Amino acid sequence: MSASLKLTSGSQGHGQLNLIYSAVETTAKSRGWNGVDLVIICGDFQAVRNAQDLTVMSCPAKYRRLGDFHEYYSGFRRAPYLTIYIGGNHEAIAHHWELPYGGWVAPKIYYLGFANVVRFGPLRIAGISGIEKGPNNGAVYNTPHSERPPFDHKEIASFYQVREPDVTKLRHVTGQVDIFLSHDWPREIEKHGDEDAVFRDNPRWKQSAMTSQLGSLSGAQLLDVLKPAYWFSAHMHYRFEALVEHAGQGSNEAVSHARTRFLALSKCIPWKSIKEHLQLEHIRPATKTSESSNISKFRLEYDPEWLAITRAFNCALGGTSKDASQSKSKDTDIGKNISRERSWVDENLVAKGNLTIPEDFVPTAPAHTPGSPEISKNQNIGYSSPQTASFCQMLGIENMFAKG
Ligand SMILES: [Zn+2]
Repeated sequence: MSASLKLTSGSQGHGQLNLIYSAVETTAKSRGWNGVDLVIICGDFQAVRNAQDLTVMSCPAKYRRLGDFHEYYSGFRRAPYLTIYIGGNHEAIAHHWELPYGGWVAPKIYYLGFANVVRFGPLRIAGISGIEKGPNNGAVYNTPHSERPPFDHKEIASFYQVREPDVTKLRHVTGQVDIFLSHDWPREIEKHGDEDAVFRDNPRWKQSAMTSQLGSLSGAQLLDVLKPAYWFSAHMHYRFEALVEHAGQGSNEAVSHARTRFLALSKCIPWKSIKEHLQLEHIRPATKTSESSNISKFRLEYDPEWLAITRAFNCALGGTSKDASQSKSKDTDIGKNISRERSWVDENLVAKGNLTIPEDFVPTAPAHTPGSPEISKNQNIGYSSPQTASFCQMLGIENMFAKG
């Protein structure tokens, strides 16, 4: 029996969680659904815990708002639905820095980290945080995640830029991916939908498209390799649907000749129509599964192949530029490394049934105290997440994201 899951996709958060959850509830009710199983938010989530987090959020000071996330972080509110999200280009980077491999930012709210593949019941969900900036993502693309707190201006600007080591990790994922999440659109995705409407509604984008500056090149490469059944994005503040027909054999043979349904949603603005920023989907896994359709037992789980890839590439992720060159080794060598690490994962985690992502949220920075100032000149001192420490310990990898 194949399981089908009701989920909400799309919308970027911009610190408006209360509004998003109430829109989900209203829309689900209007369709006769008893809620949803999963909420997916495609970046600009703004997991701001306190005024100090705002100080290092990459956006003009006049747009810095505390938002309502801190109420979920402090425990004042609880997310009504399991929620997963990727990072965009306007984020609480001090918070995300603590969770490079993903982790809970509040009970029931899971950030996927720089890049990730997780399982939710029969669905395999992958994603990458950040955006490509400038024609070639500047000089930052080929570097590891070397930003460390306290963050200077350069680091605030570079933190959210997509990196080659993460893209390379995702390129080595094989088999069916059901859902892929990116904040910016994959390059040339507009050609697979109503392109005329896109440029009529956004005339300036036409010039960007002509000079190959609309959308992410690495996103287009990942779309071509992974061929997920669904791809969700945000960032452009414009609702757009497309259908990509993948022609010919790709390197990922398990899913060649497949189709990808693309959907980008706008941001959540109170006076705009809900359908601009919210979409309810009833999703069946692309690959038949023996899982029961009883979704109440589904929890987020690690993906064994991704854990193996993470072990194989760990030193490329957070170390020096020299370490990043490891991700450019020959594909055959990388393939061998990944299959060796896969044996380790099978033996040490899969065989022991240790794939459930533990619900081990603990606050690190203090939560905002209502009534205290909502702006600050100082940033948080920098915290090390116990979640990251235990993930690294589980995988037997070096934790390069602990505050020394
Ligand atoms: Zn954005």
